[in-house]
Amino acid sequence: MSNFRYEESVARIKANALTSVKLLSDVKEVNIDLLKIIDKNAVNLLPEEKISIYNFEDQLLYCSVDNPPEITNKDLLHRIKAEKEVQYTSNDRETVGFIYEGKNEKFIAIASAYDKTGFEKLDYLRKVYVIRFFIALAIVVVIGLFFSKQALSPLTDIVKQIDRITASNLKLKLNEGNQKDEISQLAIKFNKMLERLEDAFEMQRSFVSNASHELRTPLTTLTGQLEVALMNKDKSEPWEVLKNLLDEIKQLNKLSNGLLELAQANLDISELKIAEVRVDELVGSARAELLKRNRSYKLNLNIDEFPDEKWLTLLANEQLLRTALINIMENGCKYSENTTSEITLKFDLQNVIITISDKGIGINKDDLHRIFEPFYRSKNAKNYKGHGIGLTLAKKIIYLHKGSLKIQSVVNQGTSVEITIPHL
Ligand code: ADP
Repeated sequence: MSNFRYEESVARIKANALTSVKLLSDVKEVNIDLLKIIDKNAVNLLPEEKISIYNFEDQLLYCSVDNPPEITNKDLLHRIKAEKEVQYTSNDRETVGFIYEGKNEKFIAIASAYDKTGFEKLDYLRKVYVIRFFIALAIVVVIGLFFSKQALSPLTDIVKQIDRITASNLKLKLNEGNQKDEISQLAIKFNKMLERLEDAFEMQRSFVSNASHELRTPLTTLTGQLEVALMNKDKSEPWEVLKNLLDEIKQLNKLSNGLLELAQANLDISELKIAEVRVDELVGSARAELLKRNRSYKLNLNIDEFPDEKWLTLLANEQLLRTALINIMENGCKYSENTTSEITLKFDLQNVIITISDKGIGINKDDLHRIFEPFYRSKNAKNYKGHGIGLTLAKKIIYLHKGSLKIQSVVNQGTSVEITIPHL
């Protein structure tokens, strides 16, 4: 904008100066006084415009103002002679100097003026632009606030809804909106998480009630037996009663140990003591301990081929892993008439594979996926002692060691449990 004003102003100054120098050079009838009158009345006259005309000997021939400066700017005249045309601005005044070749001689015309209206227009434009800029900015801010509020309003809704959800009313769900945009996706994912939390709470609730039920049953039996024994005034048959009580207490002890170990298996592996353990030794010690607990059990251990020492080594919490193996070995013996479990050890590039199989009562197909739930026992196992936490515990321990557990079973034919754990 400023350039445009400058170019227009310079063009007007030059046009006025050219008219004056042409009249002075080419029209004989025009003298200095007449030229002054013509200049002063020019239509295009700019404020404070001054036109000076020199001959090539640097003598001032004409000046449009009444009191021309006495000192001639020789440097400027030399520059004009050298460059033919000179333009510059000083103190907001634009000056143009150029050579005009008349019929008989050459002239140097220098004109300068202050482009008052141009500057005023420019100033006005500047103010208009600044005001418009601020108005536009205010509009953008208001619209931005409006749209951001609009865009964030579903989030605000979600926050309000989340505030209403507590541990006791996890059933409350978030509004899932149109099921497409990101906020709906967030609500969907949040609802899924609530479902998982609800399941976990439910599992915990049923676990506690199952555990207390399992603890209450033997305690009731114990109390009943003690009461009957105390009623018996002649104090006969104490041995039989004591034997029964001991059995019940052993079961109680087993259950409380199992619950304790289950709590431990819920820990993170990093919170447990982990060391290098040789799997053959571990299986051997589990077998020995189980045989010590029940002398009627038979546990046959087969190792195909002894591999490299490295393949035999696991990173494990020895005590927990031994508990898992004992539970599975014990089931094999407990649920089979011949009280026998076959244990085989195999190895591949990454894993140790321990298989524990029996020829016992087997597990119904429908029960197979439920036997890992805490306290779940299949119908055909009801006549055998147990609490239904051994397999839950074993699976947790094996998963804690980054292993996996597969179970295959046919009712009345037998069961085979395959444990896979990565070795070193
Ligand atoms: P428990 O043996 O104390 O009942 P577990 O958690 O060890 O508890 O086993 C859960 C259920 O899985 C058992 O009640 C039984 O029905 C079934 N089960 C586990 N192992 C065997 C097996 N080897 N043969 C037959 N049934 C089994």
